Amino acid sequence: MTQTLPRSEPTSPVQALLERLHDTHAGNTAGEVASYIPELALASPDWFGISLITADGSIYEVGEMRHEFTIQSISKPLTYALALEAIGEVEVRKYVDVEPSGEAFNSITLQPGTNLPLNPMVNAGAIATTSLIRPKGATAPFERILSEYSAFAGRQLEVDEAVFESENKTGNRNRAIAYLLKNANVLDAEVEDIVETYFRQCSTLVNCHDLAVIAATLASTGVNPITGERVLREDTVRSVLSVMASCGMYDAAGDWLYSVGLPAKSGVAGGIIAILPGQLGIAVYSPPLDVHGNSVRGVKVCEDLSEELHLHVMSPQRRPPPPVRSASTCAEHHSKHLRPVEEQEILRDHGSEVRVIELQGEILFAAGELITRAVLKDLDGVNYAVLDFAAVREIDPVVVPIISHLVDAFEENGGEVVFSGMTGHPEFTEEIGNLRAASELPRVRTFVDLDLALEWSEDQLIQRWGGNEEKGEIPISRHAATQDGPGADREAVSIVRAPGVPGRHPDIRPGRPGR
Ligand code: GLU
Repeated sequence: MTQTLPRSEPTSPVQALLERLHDTHAGNTAGEVASYIPELALASPDWFGISLITADGSIYEVGEMRHEFTIQSISKPLTYALALEAIGEVEVRKYVDVEPSGEAFNSITLQPGTNLPLNPMVNAGAIATTSLIRPKGATAPFERILSEYSAFAGRQLEVDEAVFESENKTGNRNRAIAYLLKNANVLDAEVEDIVETYFRQCSTLVNCHDLAVIAATLASTGVNPITGERVLREDTVRSVLSVMASCGMYDAAGDWLYSVGLPAKSGVAGGIIAILPGQLGIAVYSPPLDVHGNSVRGVKVCEDLSEELHLHVMSPQRRPPPPVRSASTCAEHHSKHLRPVEEQEILRDHGSEVRVIELQGEILFAAGELITRAVLKDLDGVNYAVLDFAAVREIDPVVVPIISHLVDAFEENGGEVVFSGMTGHPEFTEEIGNLRAASELPRVRTFVDLDLALEWSEDQLIQRWGGNEEKGEIPISRHAATQDGPGADREAVSIVRAPGVPGRHPDIRPGRPGR
């Protein structure tokens, strides 16, 4: 009897990388576990976990994942997000600015001139932000906060009462900050109530995996990639990530942006989250802190990950694929429609009158410009342009007037632009149609797929250059498909051409005047 040996799963390269970084940095014993909140001093300096979750929910983890610790300052961007959605950006900005402070997280200062806390990522700004979360019906402010954090983590979170009590007993520096805010009329509620809510939010228990889910939620436009729940609006995510990028790492924020280049936030219990927008969230947990209050191993791991995976947001490698996937003409790019020899000759001789541009990826502002140049360059002898959107994932609405303008410019030159593969982009088609209708121009002719657009363009060339215009039967002897076949068969059979068949062009818009 043959025995099947257990097969070890091949380790993914991402998992292998995390394991290597964990091995490399586990031996780094630099830094001190925070002790100014007495309960935090109980943490072991050896606890060390790394988690990376992609925006579509793939999870890679190594080390200490189950151990729970308090979220501390990583709560700050989350409460800021809640405040933005609760009362709106304009109102929030009346209480807290978005300027990097260059000062320690617990500095007792306000911005000279405005008398506002510098940003929501330092204690003064965070305490002000917490005060903006008001009761909603019967739901108390802290319940609102905890329920938002739980949606971020994708599970019901709880508070570590021991840490809360410990900080509540000793947190006089934060009380001093709150009184300063009260004195500057930034706080209108009672100092004790606000600091209690603030201490509670900082004492929310999470593990390293939870932090990575929170980071991945910020990476995936505010949708938790594990639960599928939308936790934040997209515009809120942008505001939160911006302030994390400039202020998230306390007085080391500039250094961090320079070397790691990711929006991030750290907490004094030893957690760090970092986000590559649209792609992934990272969390590291390791309690020993550097002089800025950031986890020593956390900073090192993020530096290495950023370097090895090219995550820096300013990285020149970070370029979208070119929007023009191919540029050809009807001389090389034919429809599947089989044509008689003389029509093929027309296409060979005049196919260059039809420019065929296949687009791909995400069409953002700069892509709109590139497409315009590809379509409008050297228009001599070019009468048609087919723009195929089938491989386009998304079109930014800012591109609508740019494409509309290129269609107009092409028409002014006496040509016609047609679109194909628009099924995934109904809004774009609609908006271009509206823009043209506003100038009393007909809708752009649109085809379900590139093949139909090519076939239509070929028909135009054939009509223009005197091909067989009558629709109906073509003797098989004249059909290209039979040119290599035996002569007897050619005479015997005929092929019905497709254009007259109902439903063949289901997506063609009503005819355009004069064409
Ligand atoms: N609860 C802590 C404090 O206010 C949070 C500080 C931090 O994590 O940076 O002191």
